[in-house]
Order: sequence, then structure tokens, then C-alpha cells
Amino acid sequence: LMGQMMQMPLLISSLVQHAARHSGDTEIVSKRVEGDIHRTTWAGVERRSRQLAQAFDRLGCAAGDRIGTLAWNGYRHLEIYYGASGSGRVCHTINPRLFPEQIVWIANDAADTVLMFDLNFLPLIEKIAPELKTVKHFVLMTDRAHMPAASTLPNLLCYEELVEAENGDYRWPQFDENTASSICYTSGTTGHPKGAVYSHRSSLLHAYASALPDAMNCSTRDVILPVVPMFHVNAWGLPYSAALVGCKLVFPGPHLDGKSLFELFENEKVTFSAGVPTVWLGLLTYMKANQLKFSSFKRTVIGGAACPPAMMKTLQDDFGVEVIHAWGMTELSPLGTLSKLMSKHDTLDKDAQQRLLEKQGRVIYGIDMAITDDDGHALPWDGQATGNLVVKGGWVISSYFGRAESPLISVDGDPGWFPTGDVASIDPDGFMQITDRSKDVIKSGGEWISSIDLENIAMAHPAVHEAAAIACKHPKWDERPMLVVVLKPGASATREDILGFFDGRIAKWQIPDDVVFTADIPHTATGKIQKLKLREQFKDHQLP
Ligand code: ADP
Repeated sequence: LMGQMMQMPLLISSLVQHAARHSGDTEIVSKRVEGDIHRTTWAGVERRSRQLAQAFDRLGCAAGDRIGTLAWNGYRHLEIYYGASGSGRVCHTINPRLFPEQIVWIANDAADTVLMFDLNFLPLIEKIAPELKTVKHFVLMTDRAHMPAASTLPNLLCYEELVEAENGDYRWPQFDENTASSICYTSGTTGHPKGAVYSHRSSLLHAYASALPDAMNCSTRDVILPVVPMFHVNAWGLPYSAALVGCKLVFPGPHLDGKSLFELFENEKVTFSAGVPTVWLGLLTYMKANQLKFSSFKRTVIGGAACPPAMMKTLQDDFGVEVIHAWGMTELSPLGTLSKLMSKHDTLDKDAQQRLLEKQGRVIYGIDMAITDDDGHALPWDGQATGNLVVKGGWVISSYFGRAESPLISVDGDPGWFPTGDVASIDPDGFMQITDRSKDVIKSGGEWISSIDLENIAMAHPAVHEAAAIACKHPKWDERPMLVVVLKPGASATREDILGFFDGRIAKWQIPDDVVFTADIPHTATGKIQKLKLREQFKDHQLP
């Protein structure tokens, strides 16, 4: 017997249609590249997404064409998300912080036919345009008044003119929910970046799941400000989840400094945000220096890199913001796990609860995980054993764009697991804790030392602004940990102060052998510490 229910493909257009019909006057607020504040609504975004879809038709874009973007978080970018995917094209967000050669490589690999970009990226695009082999249309995401008098780009189009030329008389097409909706590239710290191609179905399932109470807990009453860029795994799906619940969205544009962010949080009464740990450093430093408090900001998801417990504590205790630690990756759309307490943890003391919240957390329904040894055998969930983290689920990639070989592996004979490249433990309640990326592991005398543990301890030192633990070659132990530290402005600490701080906080043999102070730690295009570069920089460092 078959079910007798309506067949409704899970399409991205249904999200924006729902938001427009049921939360039509809910605001979408953007701080523009130009510096001013722009206000629209879900109804406005949906109408202009339809106009944009018509504009893609007029440009001759076929179904499945990749529409590249180089843009900050803003309403026009949101319109492209819906106008491109909703009309059957593929939205391809490119990280503008990558090196120009990487951007060229990625745009050519994805075979983008249209490239849409914010005003401030015009010089970059003009420089690389001759190498972009497949792009037929360059679109500057601005109005006529801001168009340059002259450009070396052939037929540079104006976004506002394209949109306003259309009447919006457009019905969102219905098609197979497994059709590609968007594509994001991994950072490619080893080898070329690889494309993860999401489908409408996977994006919708991810949006449903991430809005759940034990995940991001999104409600129509929320005001969401995604600090995480829309070019970093679709701002972790927030542009979709926000439409699903019909809540207000606030976009910071390129203005990510502490002062700009704080003003936007306050003026727009933001309740919820998400981002990598490094973005909070600037905001918290600014707020502390000016003795500021949040009046509406209640909770935030921090992920993409381990959230230092000291940062979690500051946000919670000093600023009243609940921190939800999450783990994910591009290949997972990105959400995999989040750390929320279960009711049985209510009786634990505060410290024990805190230790659970510091872990990367439990999977959301729709994802499963396991840890394995190097031969692909599952390891126990005892909170002690650490192994290679593997996952499967409806929003996990099964292959990379344009690559024939499958990345998937078997676990104890069960096929179809995606190896994440992370090393983790899982406790009996399913709380997963990342100890390292496999390529960042520090192996001393055959034993692993967690670089995340070392960084978390260093970050709790009152003088430390940021810290990175890396492996240093050692004649006897093969590798030993060293710590690279950036001090807070005006703070001072010696090597001995920092090392002394580890006493009693970790096993003696795991304490770093040395501390080096620097003015700046290099970050990747997504704001994570660039371990590869640090290891390169300190490869000849002589341990004492
Ligand atoms: P990139 O490779 O560009 O950094 P991702 O954003 O996909 O791409 O990064 C995913 C990786 O980030 C994970 O495999 C993991 O190593 C790391 N990561 C993500 N969240 C966390 C977290 N909460 N704690 C520790 N590591 C994390």
C-alpha cells in the first residue's frame, strides 16, 4: 500500500514563498558596502528574487548553470540565493578572501557562467577576468549611481538595472528535489579545493533540522544576524532556516569590526548569531574596553573551529549570552553536532555541565556518526577512545563535484561513511569531542597530544588574546608541542608565566616545550588558525 499524500518536492523556492506569504512584512536589514542601512522585507526579497530569476532567463542562463557570487552578507546576496536556486540554477558562493589564483581556479572548475560581485571586489574581478574561461556575464551588485564610469570588464551589468527591468510575473518552477541547488568549495589546505554540491532536498532537510530546539532553536520571534559569511557554507544555512521560521534577518555586510557589529546588534535587537571563534575576539575586546552590555542578544552558535572554554565563559558570565558549541564542515552543509544538555544532566554540578557544553556535542537527527581506528573498525563510545570521525546522513556529500572517485569508506563492513579528517572521542550519551584535525595532531613519543586542549588552556590565561599549538620536530620524541601566542593589547606575560599556567591543568608530558610571542597569528579565508603556515614559519625553531 502506498501513502496517499501530496507529493511536494522539497524546493528552496518554497522557503522564500512561505516567508513572503506568512511573514511578508518581517524585515531584512542590511548594512551595505556603501555604509548605509538598507531595509526590505521577506515579501520584498521574494518579489525581487522572482525578478532576478526572470533576468537570468533573459541573459540566457540554462537550468543547472552555475551563478558565481563574491559578496558579503546582504539582501542582494539573499536574492541571488533564492533567485538562482529557486529558478533551477546553482548558486555558487566564492570566498573573496581566497588568493586570486584560487578564486580563478574555483570559478573555472565550477564553470560559472555568471559572476555577481559587490562593489569593493570590482578591481579584483577586473584583474582576474581574462583568466575566467566560462563567465559570460559580469554583474556588479549595486545601483546605476554607483556603477564605475569605465571598466575593463566587457559588458559590465548593473544588478539593480537587471532586476528592475523585470515585472516579477514569474511562477517558481517545480522540479526534482534532488536537483543541485548550490555549490561550495572546501578551503583546500591540501591540494586543490573540492566542490560540495548540495541539492534542494539536502538543503531543506538541513534547514528543518538546524531550526530544532536542540540545534539552533530558531523561532519566528528571533532576530538573526549571521556573522558567518554567506560564502562560508551558506552562512551555515541561516538564510534558509530564517525563511523557514519567518524571522527577521540582519546582515552586517563587510563591517565586521567590534564597533560596527555591536551597534547593529543593539539597533536591530538581534537575539541570535553564529560564527567562528575568531570573529568574537574583536567584538568582545571592543565591548570590554567600552564597558558595554548586550540588551537583546541571547544565544549564539560557535563552530568551525573549537570554541575556547574561556571565550564561552566570558560570553555566558560577563555578557549573558548562551554559547552553543557546534561542529560541522562544508561536506555536511555544514551542521553535524551541537552541544545541548539532556534532562538527565540537570542534576550535575555546574562544572560538569560546563565540561559537556565545551564538547562539540550530539548529532541532530538526520546525521549518524562513528569513530574508527586506522583499519576502519569502530571504537567504543566511552569518552576516552579517540579515533577517526566518520559520518553519514541526508545532507552529507556522497562525492565531490567533477570527481569520479568516491570519498566514502566502510566501517566494520558497513559502507557509505564519509571520513571527516577529524579525530574525536564520543561519550556514552553521544557527546562527541574533537581533539584535532588528523593533519594537526601532535605526536610525541607515539602518543597524541590534543592541540585543541593546549590552546584552550592558553586562552584561559588572562593575558592571552589568541594561541595556537603546533608540532615541532624533536630528536628524541619525534614531535613536541610549542605554543604561538598573541598577547592582549597592553598585557604582558613571560614564557615562564604561560608554561606555569599549564601546571595542574594537563599531564606534565603534554605541557608545551616552548612559547613564542608574535604580533599576529595567520588565519585562513574562513577565519581559522592557519596551522600549516605556522608549522612552515616555525619549522626551524629550536626548542630549548
Ligand atoms: P575548511 O576546510 O575550509 O576550514 P570547513 O569549514 O568545512 O572547511 O571546516 C571543517 C573543519 O573545521 C572540521 O573538519 C573540523 O576540523 C573543524 N571544525 C569545525 N567545527 C569545529 C569545532 N566546533 N571544534 C573543532 N573543530 C571544528
